[in-house]
Amino acid sequence: MTALPTRLLELIRPDVRQMAAYHVQDAHGMVKLDVMENPYHLPPQLRQQLGAVLAQVALNRYPTPDYQRLKQKIAERLGVPPGYPLILGNGSDELISLLALACAQKDADGRAARVLSPAPSFVMYAMSAQIAGLEFTGVPLQADFTLDMPAMLAAIAREQPALVYLSYPNNPTGNLFADSDIEAILQACAGRSLVVLDEAYQPFAQVSWMERLPQYPHMLVMRTVSKLGLAGIRLGYMSGHPDLLAQLEKLRPPFNVNVLTEAAANFALDHLSLFDIQAAAICQAREQLAQQIAAWPGVQVFPSAANFLLVRVADSERVFQHMLQHKVLIKNVGKMHTLLSNCLRITIGAPEENQAMLAALKAALDSLN
Ligand SMILES: *Cc1c(COP(=O)(O)O)cnc(C)c1O
Repeated sequence: MTALPTRLLELIRPDVRQMAAYHVQDAHGMVKLDVMENPYHLPPQLRQQLGAVLAQVALNRYPTPDYQRLKQKIAERLGVPPGYPLILGNGSDELISLLALACAQKDADGRAARVLSPAPSFVMYAMSAQIAGLEFTGVPLQADFTLDMPAMLAAIAREQPALVYLSYPNNPTGNLFADSDIEAILQACAGRSLVVLDEAYQPFAQVSWMERLPQYPHMLVMRTVSKLGLAGIRLGYMSGHPDLLAQLEKLRPPFNVNVLTEAAANFALDHLSLFDIQAAAICQAREQLAQQIAAWPGVQVFPSAANFLLVRVADSERVFQHMLQHKVLIKNVGKMHTLLSNCLRITIGAPEENQAMLAALKAALDSLN
């Protein structure tokens, strides 16, 4: 095909033209432990039931745009405080984009609103800010991945951000930030910045700020069903003060959650105990793997409250490539941030996947010597 005339290409924003496209590694034939998916399927009987439920869905109809039944079920079963509304997203990624869009304004001096988060953290915080024309500030964590509180508080005072993101547990480091630190951040932001607690890994951490919503009118708690085992259906949800959510609702595309997702999520919420059992198995495997790997020379395993482990090796790129040759796909995050140098992020899989991962990792480590 002939190249698009430059004039047409130039209709696209220059910063967008300069962006690199989101890269997804080809995982064909691999033990796939790179993006924190739950390795377990529904049992065959439940899959059949789900199939019957989905077969009844009226695909010719638009979704009912308020999603009342699904929201009520989420609220009841997932600990949303009484009276607190929910907003649903096509994945929590969409909610992150909506927040950026909602806050994208310039102050009296013409300066764009700011988004702030610790670094390294979830890449979408910075990316959504850039796309919506906000400034992003990443405040480096300490070497042990705890919050650098003096730096955080100074940055909040200096930047006066519209949005502060705290991934709890943090992706890609896996740890939970200290309650007292989060409280201090909430206090520093009271009355002027929104603080988003991103609890994508809540099923594995078993702790949450959701119940504390009534204490903090400027706090939003965001979650997703992706890491729980439903990454394919794309559903995120967020709760917070009704006045805030009412504003965000205006920006939400009216039918952003499709009818199949809605039905599948309703079904899943009726079988939540099954997902809880899977999450418990994943946490148990995580602890076993952490112990095993930590016993090997030349590896550092960081504590994790999520469904992945962050490990540091002598040469993350060589270990990553070696494991790839053994058909095990993990994520080399060594280049993401200086604090992550030579780090690998390994999703916890099913038992046989974890065994394959251990064997490949051991072989890769041995090959370094
Ligand atoms: C995976 C992840 C998300 C995105 O979840 P989706 O609902 O799949 O879009 C959000 N935040 C963090 C910290 C994550 O790791």
